[in-house]
Amino acid sequence: MSEINQISVAKDYSKFVPFTARMMAAMRARESIREDRLFDDPFAATLAGSEAFQQVDQQLKKQDQAYVAVRTRFFDDFLSLATARQVVILASGLDSRAYRLPWMGEVDVYELDYVEVLAYKDALLKNTNMYCKHHLIACDLTQSWEEKLLAAGFCPQSPSVWLIEGLLMYLSEAQVHALLQSVSNLSTHGSELGVDLISVKSLEYEPYKGYFRFGCDTPEELLAHYGWQALVTQPGDEGANFGRYVEQSPPREIPNVMRAFLVKAKKQDGQLQ
Ligand code: SAM
Repeated sequence: MSEINQISVAKDYSKFVPFTARMMAAMRARESIREDRLFDDPFAATLAGSEAFQQVDQQLKKQDQAYVAVRTRFFDDFLSLATARQVVILASGLDSRAYRLPWMGEVDVYELDYVEVLAYKDALLKNTNMYCKHHLIACDLTQSWEEKLLAAGFCPQSPSVWLIEGLLMYLSEAQVHALLQSVSNLSTHGSELGVDLISVKSLEYEPYKGYFRFGCDTPEELLAHYGWQALVTQPGDEGANFGRYVEQSPPREIPNVMRAFLVKAKKQDGQLQ
């Protein structure tokens, strides 16, 4: 696996995917300086670094910036409303929620990503005051990572809240199924899951074409297979607009459309609010 500091404009998967964590941070930094910002991430600019801003400017579109802003706010709200005391952020990248959300009570936040990504973040933020008990778990999420989470203190018998943001599209179909199976095995009834997915057509979306590997047009079915009851929203819909989308996405029944899905799910036997 490459260094997170390496920039790859070439189609080198192992360099590009960790670097996307810095590009996401750059977009959160841009959002944070807007007067009408949807959130404030005071760590994002430092975490992103100048190369990531350059890449965002050269490669991404305005709609990518809007999507990341809305997605971040959507999952900020999701985590803020969750009542479970264990929060697991898979492929956390340079997400600074563990540092910036006002966690109430005793909350354990587990962050999992490649070692170089977590080490980079830890080096920059290690002296930051935090309101949670923080666990950094270096791993490859396509290999076995469950034992490391359990060894860090995660309790599968207690409710948990999971976030999988900006990951599934980079995995193969088999890896997505294996990951969801593991998450499901570790989640007791009433646990919650936030996840974003892209449609099959979105695999063609530039500049991610060739890096995006997994698309799905029916997130409800995918998650139901692993015991999750899902509430699926498209950016721009009510609850995922925040004044950033003028138009709604085309209705779901129209096939072959590039779409993203923001999903909140509950381990079956509970009702979504
Ligand atoms: N969730 C963060 C966010 O929204 O800003 C990061 C998203 S970034 C687009 C993708 C992240 O997935 C990167 O941090 C990358 O290192 C991580 N990732 C991709 N494949 C992984 C794997 N097999 N194991 C661990 N982390 C992985």
